[in-house]
Amino acid sequence: MMNRFLALIVMAMLSLSIEAKAQSNEWIVDRFDDIKVLRYEVPGFEDLTLKEKLLVYYLGEAAKSGRDILYDQNFKYNIAIRRTLETLYKSIAERETKDFYAFEKYLKKVWFANGIHHHYSNDKFQPEFTEGWLREQLKKHLDNSTRLMPDNLLCAILFDPELYPSRLDQTAGVDVILSSANNYYENLTQAEVEAYYAALATVHADDPTPISYGLNSKLMRSDNGTITELVWRVGGMYSPAIEQIVYWLEKAATVANFMQRRIINTLIDYYRTGDLRTFDLYNILWVSDNSSKVDFVNGFIETYGDPLGRKASWESIVNFRDERACRRTELLTEYAQWFEDNAPIDPAYRKAKVKGVSAKVITAAMLGGDCYPATPIGINLPNADWIRKEHGSKSVTIDNITYAYDKAAEGNGFMEEFVLREEDRERMRLYGKLTDDLHTDLHECLGHGSGQLAEGTKGDELRTYYSTLEEARADLFALYYLGDQKMVKIGLIPNQEAAWANYAKYIMNGMMTQLARIEEGKDVQESHMRNRKLIAEWCYEHGKQDNVIEIVERMGKKYVVVNDFQKLRNLFGELLREVQRIKSEGDYAAGSALVERYAVKINPELHREVLERYNALHIEPYSGFVNPEYSLVEDEEGKIIDVKLSYPRSYIQQMLGYGEDYSFLPNEN
Ligand code: ZN
Repeated sequence: MMNRFLALIVMAMLSLSIEAKAQSNEWIVDRFDDIKVLRYEVPGFEDLTLKEKLLVYYLGEAAKSGRDILYDQNFKYNIAIRRTLETLYKSIAERETKDFYAFEKYLKKVWFANGIHHHYSNDKFQPEFTEGWLREQLKKHLDNSTRLMPDNLLCAILFDPELYPSRLDQTAGVDVILSSANNYYENLTQAEVEAYYAALATVHADDPTPISYGLNSKLMRSDNGTITELVWRVGGMYSPAIEQIVYWLEKAATVANFMQRRIINTLIDYYRTGDLRTFDLYNILWVSDNSSKVDFVNGFIETYGDPLGRKASWESIVNFRDERACRRTELLTEYAQWFEDNAPIDPAYRKAKVKGVSAKVITAAMLGGDCYPATPIGINLPNADWIRKEHGSKSVTIDNITYAYDKAAEGNGFMEEFVLREEDRERMRLYGKLTDDLHTDLHECLGHGSGQLAEGTKGDELRTYYSTLEEARADLFALYYLGDQKMVKIGLIPNQEAAWANYAKYIMNGMMTQLARIEEGKDVQESHMRNRKLIAEWCYEHGKQDNVIEIVERMGKKYVVVNDFQKLRNLFGELLREVQRIKSEGDYAAGSALVERYAVKINPELHREVLERYNALHIEPYSGFVNPEYSLVEDEEGKIIDVKLSYPRSYIQQMLGYGEDYSFLPNEN
């Protein structure tokens, strides 16, 4: 396309100023396309005991060992493609060419997305180097041992836009299984997959503690026509990588405390058997451990990558508690029952007794799988509804990550461009970080955990709309309570005005600025983005009579302005009531109507304007991170006496290094 080509030509001119900008902010280590890569610091690591440091180290190795799993889950040729591109990257000597420059950028994007489809939009990347150039390099630099797939196949996958165009297609009306390129299903239609799991659900209809059917397996039709599940476990699919994970978990168990040793051993047991009952047991143990300083997530956890929300991608985060910041979340959990009892929802759908809500602020020490390089800023687990109800859930806000985001954004001109009123900008400067963090705390630790299902509702009725509506529910809970006087009373925010900083930003983002992340002509696909648009647009329409939210035009530019924050808060409450009802009753028709009406379609004129204004600022809409590095320090006798932490500054070096040291799966699985 024209703008891509032009971009290449002006790249040389731009690169100077971009580099100058990059150097001016020490938190940014790389930038390319729509991505910037940041680094994060791990304050407090030095203060851990040797055992805790070793636990971080071993769990960190386990976190890196599953990297290939995610590549393969995202698309079955991803590992072979990545290896081929890395071989070329290391072999090509002539690097001062336009094609090589574009090739390097493409490879950086593949690393970032853990595959050839964009991590957020799910669309396949379009190479900006030519097919002729690539074929020449393949011929020149590959031999029998390094050629992992036929050149023709590789080129077809990379260059043919019709082939595997989307990793995750949720367009209404299409067969989401057939049209999604991910590797969770093979030779099956959506109807067949749905029938397969519906049959399982019928058999186990009376089970009060249902396992998460299909969570850790690939479902496929084999050549003889039977449908089988290939379970991800030692001895099953992805065994070589899982064996490595288990190896490091075993090491971790040797330095863990009594409770954690039991947790880790149960996880190992699950990886060995693939038994989802054992995974549930692991989750129950894990959620009850609130006292260990070091904690971790490791497993097949989130289901955003499966259009049917059943198969989980592999991920890991190693972290430890940030004691000082934890006071914030302790206060929230102290009042958890009060928040539940006062939620603006049908009393029938409130939890009578909020159980085991725990929330903490953590410092991330290692990111892996689906948390790397793009990473969440908050997590609430486990996902199984019955475990949450019986045993509670654990919520974390990752403070060193949000801190790095904040630092990297300083002085980028975004607020000046998109926030019209100085009073809003001032509030955002004063209370932006505080209320963003609180929003995440409320969303993760109370929002997702709140409410209950009606008798007879199973929880899977909302199907492809579940993720969006569940995120909306958690966000609405957070928004509603952020503006509550209670927050001032218990000392979490200095005054109600602080909440308005978050409201103004949320609405602006939902209606406008988040569109910068979407390519022109495309719909909103990702569930968190859909959720924000749903909330903002719904409030805009329902507050129109009172002019609660207004689109103001100044000098040819549009701005989203909130005129009445109190009324906006009431609208949040109203919508929360409806979304909770939809979840509790499993009302698919109402849920799909809400999402399709408010969350998916973009006004093309507004979209173009946002893209133009955003691009003029040269801010990349997506960020991710390089990991710190840890190394063991030994004394003369070979005894480990310390773990040393360092901060690498090269994204390329880290990715190439991971490709060499943490790549355990065959090209095809
Ligand atoms: Zn969420």
